[in-house]
Parts: sequence; C-alpha cells; structure tokens
Amino acid sequence: MDTFSPTKRSEIMSHIGGKNTAPELGVRRLLCALGYRYRLHRADLPGNPDIVFPSLRKAILVHGCFWHGHVRCRRSAQPASNGAFWAKKLAGNVARDHRVIRQLRHRGWKILVVWQCQLADLDRLRARLVKFLSSAPEIA
Ligand SMILES: [Zn+2]
Repeated sequence: MDTFSPTKRSEIMSHIGGKNTAPELGVRRLLCALGYRYRLHRADLPGNPDIVFPSLRKAILVHGCFWHGHVRCRRSAQPASNGAFWAKKLAGNVARDHRVIRQLRHRGWKILVVWQCQLADLDRLRARLVKFLSSAPEIA
C-alpha cells in the first residue's frame, strides 16, 4: 500500500522540478535576511539553478529530499507501491542532478546544494550559506 492517498500522492508529484517550493522559499528568506541579492531560475544555465549570484558565479540548488534522492534521509523513503517505477524515476532525477552540477562546475560555477531537511536547523544552514557566499569565487 502506498503510504499516501492518491490525491496526496499526485499533490506531491506535482512538485517535481517545481519552482518556488517551500524549502526554496525558506532558503530565499534566509538570504534576504542576510542581505544577499540573487537572481532566480536562470534559464540560460544548465538545469535552471534555483538561486543564482551572477557576480559571484555561484548558485544554490534547493533539493527536495524525496525527489532528489537524499541519501540516508528519512524524507527520501520511496513509496511502497510501484517500487520499480519510483526507483527508476528517482534514479533519473539523481542522474540529472549530477549532470547539471557537473555542467555548471565545468563552466566555472560554484554550487551549493541545500537539502529540504537541512531547513530544520536554520542556524546551521545560515552559517553554511554565509560560508559558501563569502568564500573566494572559483577561477574559471
Ligand atoms: Zn534530506
């Protein structure tokens, strides 16, 4: 049995690759409070990174634990029904993420991945964001 009702499941599914997800908004709120300016969903970059700092050549990807297959995270537990379907689908997402990050780094971008579950500890996340954004930009 699927642990979610069909309605709930399709609601979750509708968020795949979604923009302006709750975790993303949470990260954006932190960045705003820290006084950082950023651009959103740059369509001219591989994978349309969620949050982009063009002058720093840095980008932040906010990943939902389930959809992006966060390793050893309880939020990424796969649905009990249609196991093979989900395994394939989620493996495809993970492969795509790796490809996108590789392409961005290849172009000289520095990438930080923030996982949904990391928003549970805002102090720690804030420190990570500051560290990432204040480090010297990569020499392309
Ligand atoms: Zn997680």
